[in-house]
This record gives sequence, structure tokens and C-alpha cells, in this order.
Amino acid sequence: MGKAQVSAAGGMVRQLCPRCREGKIFRRSGFLLPAMYECCPACGLKFEREEGYFLGAMYIGYGLALAAISLLAVLLWAAMRWPFQKTVIGGVLLFLPMAPFLTVMARVLWIYLDQAVDPDQT
Ligand SMILES: [Zn+2]
Repeated sequence: MGKAQVSAAGGMVRQLCPRCREGKIFRRSGFLLPAMYECCPACGLKFEREEGYFLGAMYIGYGLALAAISLLAVLLWAAMRWPFQKTVIGGVLLFLPMAPFLTVMARVLWIYLDQAVDPDQT
């Protein structure tokens, strides 16, 4: 316990609590819906502060998904020179296996952002 040893970036990558950076946010990196702890197992920070709290994470998720699909489509186009529609569909299909990971990262980003702007004092 004590002062945070892990940087914010390190905490995000390892999916640790934004306040103490010791407790984990997720029980396991689950499929489709990540299984979260309600509170930090180490310091007791409540992750889901209110009903609908993770709506913001969904918007981050959409943004990340769009960026990832665009990038994949560009790479695909550079490699295959497919027509536009086929390239976009290919990008979406390549993206799908990454979606659960992206959902998890969007939530982690959201919690970190929220705690940076409005830290929980309890
Ligand atoms: Zn904590």
C-alpha cells in the first residue's frame, strides 16, 4: 500500500484501479461483456459510480472502433486494392475479434479520465 508505484499509462495497460493502481478492475478479461469488480479489491474505490456511468465508455468505444476499422481498411486496401465496399467489410471483419478487448480498454480509459477530472475522495 501507500503511494502509487505504477504510472497512469502502466495502470491502464494492466487494467488496475486508477486511484491506488494496485487492485484490478476486471475479474478476468471476459468475452463480449467484461466481468468487472464493483469496487477496487485493494482500496474500495467504486468503479461504477452511478447508473449508466459506462455510457461515456461506450462513446469512447465507438470512437476507438471507428479508428481501428479505418486503419484496418486502409491497410487492407494498401495490400489488396479491393473495391471500397469490400475493403470496409474486410476491415469490420478483421476488427470483430478485437472488439471485446476494445470494450475493456474503453472502460479503463473512461474510469481513468473520470478519476482525473473528478477524483473520488471517499
Ligand atoms: Zn484501488
